[in-house]
Amino acid sequence: MRVLLLGGTTEASALAERLAGDDRFDVTLSLAGRTEKPLHQPLPARVGGFGGAEGLAQWLTENRIDALIDATHPYAARISANAVAATHATGVPLASIMRAPWRAEAGDRWTEVAGAVEAVSALGDAPRRIFLALGRLELAAFAAAPQHNYIVRTIDPPRDIPLPPRMTLIQARGPFKIADEQDLLEREQIAVVVSKNSGGAATYAKVAAARTLGIPVVMIARPEKPHGTPLVDIEEAQTWLEKRLGHERAPGSLRGV
Ligand code: NAP
Repeated sequence: MRVLLLGGTTEASALAERLAGDDRFDVTLSLAGRTEKPLHQPLPARVGGFGGAEGLAQWLTENRIDALIDATHPYAARISANAVAATHATGVPLASIMRAPWRAEAGDRWTEVAGAVEAVSALGDAPRRIFLALGRLELAAFAAAPQHNYIVRTIDPPRDIPLPPRMTLIQARGPFKIADEQDLLEREQIAVVVSKNSGGAATYAKVAAARTLGIPVVMIARPEKPHGTPLVDIEEAQTWLEKRLGHERAPGSLRGV
């Protein structure tokens, strides 16, 4: 059975690991190409966009894909919309791993905002020390608030992204530990953390550390993310795929996107 796995997340890598040794499935992992040095993957991977929903539909047909699993990041809404449109057009079944968001607990001081621009407004006018744990693409919005001191952590250097003048860059890839995050927040005298509500364990430590230290968090809300059959984790994804065995489709033609 030929499977396309849309990845770039911990879940996608874990599912890839699990399916790699299973010769019932012939899986291709697809990465957006956002990070310069992606982690080694146990499966054949293709990198880069498909060219919108139409490009993805064409790729599904040309590669005779029997099932599509969307295991992309909760903030990657465009690729998920494309997956819904492309599978609608081709009849390829789609299931989506939907990572649960973090919920505020007692002691959390979250301000929830709609996006990076709203996060900048929530920081206020007075200069503060801010920890930005965001993707490099979201950093540009903070150039509009040059009065703050920023500690910015990204996987790759921001390169051509416009940045605020007072900024220290830390390059690191999760998972992170609570004790290390607490050290960082204390050492850098951070007054506010800005975060996406990514969910999962790999990047939660900064939220837990902020709670322990009583530091407020500006939490950027999730976008609407279109999906197919909802799955909570990779176990459900594996079960969904196994149920589809024996239902591989004959090579078909595009119905048009
Ligand atoms: P996006 O806005 O949903 O996707 C933009 C375009 O990138 C898509 O239209 C598609 O191009 C391509 N793309 C995205 N994921 C792909 C995949 N798995 N395989 C092939 N092509 C893919 O997503 P984004 O721009 O990557 O990120 C949006 C938000 O998600 C950001 O906040 C980012 O920090 C966060 N995020 C993304 C990833 C990731 O691996 N993508 C990981 C962690 C966090 P075409 O239309 O040309 O097909």
